[in-house]
Amino acid sequence: MKKRIVIIGNGFASLFFIGAFLALPFYPVFMFFLRRAYSRYDITVIGNGQFIYFPAIPEFLVGKKSRKGVTVDIRPYLWRRKIHFIDDRVIDIQDGGRTVITTEGRYENDALFIGIGPAFMVDDIPGTKEHTFSPCSGPDAMEEFTRRLERMQEGIIYVGFKLNKRDGFVAGRGGQMYESVCLLDYALKERGVRDKFEIHIFSPNIAVGDSGAITDRLQERGIILDYGFEPVEFVEGGMLDADGSLRKADLVLFTPGIVAPEWISETCLPVSVGGHIDVDKYGRVVGLQNVFAAGDCANHENPPPWVPHQAHMAQLRSGSAAKNMNAVLRGDEPSSTYRFELSCIMNMENDAMWLHASSDDKPPFWNIFPKRSKKLIKVKNTFEHLYLFNLRYL
Ligand SMILES: Cc1cc2nc3c(=O)[nH]c(=O)nc-3n(C[C@H](O)[C@H](O)[C@H](O)COP(=O)(O)OP(=O)(O)OC[C@H]3O[C@@H](n4cnc5c(N)ncnc54)[C@H](O)[C@@H]3O)c2cc1C
Repeated sequence: MKKRIVIIGNGFASLFFIGAFLALPFYPVFMFFLRRAYSRYDITVIGNGQFIYFPAIPEFLVGKKSRKGVTVDIRPYLWRRKIHFIDDRVIDIQDGGRTVITTEGRYENDALFIGIGPAFMVDDIPGTKEHTFSPCSGPDAMEEFTRRLERMQEGIIYVGFKLNKRDGFVAGRGGQMYESVCLLDYALKERGVRDKFEIHIFSPNIAVGDSGAITDRLQERGIILDYGFEPVEFVEGGMLDADGSLRKADLVLFTPGIVAPEWISETCLPVSVGGHIDVDKYGRVVGLQNVFAAGDCANHENPPPWVPHQAHMAQLRSGSAAKNMNAVLRGDEPSSTYRFELSCIMNMENDAMWLHASSDDKPPFWNIFPKRSKKLIKVKNTFEHLYLFNLRYL
């Protein structure tokens, strides 16, 4: 009998997992027939069927990307790979991972992969839900933010982020907010109204006086640095300081720290001190058999303190988890570990920088790309087009 694999979620981590698990990441038409004739595993994905390419969302601000362009119906991709799709939401995991419960069914498995993505700590600072927007909430929230921005002729805008570092790494979205604030500056300049706006960036996780290439880019754009600042509450018309005084803000774009979705704590899965699914260096959920997790929902074993949650890290982790799941299903010990790497292109529309750090000091793509150049925007778009083309057509 074929082994039953259940994959929860249809975001970056799950799709990278599928690509690596099936060994052939690209499936030209003839592979469609091959996989129907021969497949060792019976694979089921449970999710909402809509893949969101989050890295493009900040570009909504400059009108270059939209909801339609960043959303892919993932069901044809799964169908081409002979993967069953269940359009549902998982609400519980039981029996040491062997039973997955959704709002409408129960699914038994021989091995489980969990890629359910992040939850944001929206209750950490009161008023976050009611008075802020976030690119991390998805295309709808960002479209609403840009609609409001377009209606404004002048004003004060705050862009900020808070990180969850309790698991020893960066669970939050700093780089994305730096990109957003620079694109916001560019969008207002294009409209010829930049001088009518005050733009601030704030984060309690950045030390006052912090310097470096990103800070230089912000200062070049006249963005006011409120490093070290954390509001005690977001309120109508702005935010409250610790002394109760109001900082006026007409719009706030803010993203809180990341944890795993809360329902996880009611399941048989272990939760780390920082609120993630607890996994080891092989991507195995600690204490459970044949259960793996990767991406924004999972922590790391012994991470370097700079490593963030990224699609790129999800790719490295899911690749390793896929190899290890294949190994345990063959009866072998898991042996594949992953590198830690921060790698992303920060698009400022009139400039771009490649932000990079890695645990083995290997440069990205053998250093063939410049570290700072407007041409990197083309490189970033090419990655996006290739990735989405693969999901839509291969
Ligand atoms: C604005 C923005 C810009 C970014 N830019 C970059 C970048 O330039 N480079 C980079 O590498 N990373 C970037 N990231 C980070 C990257 O998008 C995330 O790290 C990545 O999406 C994490 O992948 P994931 O699969 O863990 O989560 P997701 O991609 O969020 O996928 C989670 C999946 O799980 C599903 N799911 C959730 N709960 C359930 C449930 N109960 N039952 C079933 N399914 C469920 C969701 O529907 C979704 O399909 C950016 C993120 C944002 C928000």
